[in-house]
Amino acid sequence: MENTDLLERLSTLQRLARSEGRLTPEQKASVVRLRSEVPPLILAHFDDLARRECKAVVQVHNGVCNGCYVKLPTSFSPGPADELLVCETCGAFLAFDTEVPGRRLSLVS
Ligand SMILES: [Zn+2]
Repeated sequence: MENTDLLERLSTLQRLARSEGRLTPEQKASVVRLRSEVPPLILAHFDDLARRECKAVVQVHNGVCNGCYVKLPTSFSPGPADELLVCETCGAFLAFDTEVPGRRLSLVS
């Protein structure tokens, strides 16, 4: 799975998690399906962020994490497609603009 797809799944999961209790049966089914598609290690980190009510996926603008507004080390750049980067300060999964040319992730704000 491409990590942009993974980030989109995590964004969707977070959006759905926020309306928990008001989900339609279809939405509940898609939560189950999305969770089954995310690797267990990533899902565990996602759940940890959700428990702490942190943003799970944040956009990176000009090398700055949009979750905690801390400048990321310059070594942080989009890696291989199967690797997700996590902000060292707030722990959010990082979505890089440059990684998705012509297409933006629908991120939770
Ligand atoms: Zn951060």
